[in-house]
Amino acid sequence: RDLVSPEPVGDEPVIEATLRPKRLSEFIGQQRVREQLSLVLESARRRRRPPDHVLMSGGPGLGKTTLALIIAAELGAPIRMTSGPALERAGDLAAILSTLTEGEVLFIDEIHRMARPAEEMLYLAMEDFRIDVVVGKGPGATSIPLEIAPFTLVGATTRAGLLPAPLRDRFGFTAHMDFYEVAELEQVLHRSARLLGADLREDGAHEIAKRSRGTPRIANRLLRRVRDYAEVRAQGVITREVAAAALDLYEVDAEGLDRLDRAVLEALLRKFGGGPVGLSTLAVAVGEEPETVEIVAEPFLVRQGLLARTPRGRVATALAWKHFGLTPPPGAYG
Ligand code: ADP
Repeated sequence: RDLVSPEPVGDEPVIEATLRPKRLSEFIGQQRVREQLSLVLESARRRRRPPDHVLMSGGPGLGKTTLALIIAAELGAPIRMTSGPALERAGDLAAILSTLTEGEVLFIDEIHRMARPAEEMLYLAMEDFRIDVVVGKGPGATSIPLEIAPFTLVGATTRAGLLPAPLRDRFGFTAHMDFYEVAELEQVLHRSARLLGADLREDGAHEIAKRSRGTPRIANRLLRRVRDYAEVRAQGVITREVAAAALDLYEVDAEGLDRLDRAVLEALLRKFGGGPVGLSTLAVAVGEEPETVEIVAEPFLVRQGLLARTPRGRVATALAWKHFGLTPPPGAYG
């Protein structure tokens, strides 16, 4: 299901780097976040101080890394990039924090996955620009306070709810990134097509955008696949028909549902009469891990109004029945 995965696949990060907007004015959609952020940046510029720490929450592929890079670019500051899982020991973080330069932006992706000792070091660093470095081992160990340069932390998390409150509270500003509208994804696609030199027509962009699950990363990926198809079969011209034929071939349907999504819904409808059914039972029915169903398939299905999570289990909505050309039973959810 690589084609509609919101996570980067293979050597995609290299290609993605070339498609990233560099300035806030180039960043498409997320209007509220853009406005809030531009205020935060502007007031920091006026006060000549690094801005408050920024937390970005939202699903993968929605532009969190891109925004972190933009924040640094707008501040004219260097940026250091790391991730929660890479900060296993407090020493890993201390090495970074103690070498930051004044005003530098520190980006920590997946900040909810940071190890506890590193997390506690970060509290102090965020608040007082200070860390305690432990020297020596055992009973003779001492802790030496060390001042660090004022910096701006930009944290990204797919699940703000998993962040411990003391960490969450130390961010001056939280940006909630939402899925993108089809029209916004069309803009993303036209911009990328220009950069890739692809001949993308209006109706072609619309068709790809509709199937992109509200996610720029997926839109850009589908665009590259469709472009390859168009080059071989349609002299490189991406119209609606060409986009639809290519994506049908790759089994991404008109709503952006892929094979796993359809398997989950079909099991729910045909094996469990529309539910409610527990997550693990549903996962077994499609031969997947519960986490895969919960994290990969469900958020999109819920957002599309096809599946609901209720206290009694997963339920197919009336819309889901209709999506498969079935008549919803009386009392169907939604
Ligand atoms: P995240 O860090 O949230 O997983 P990224 O910032 O890496 O997402 O974005 C994934 C890809 O989508 C990048 O290639 C980026 O250029 C593109 N992208 C994301 N948001 C936007 C946007 N608002 N406008 C244009 N391109 C975007």
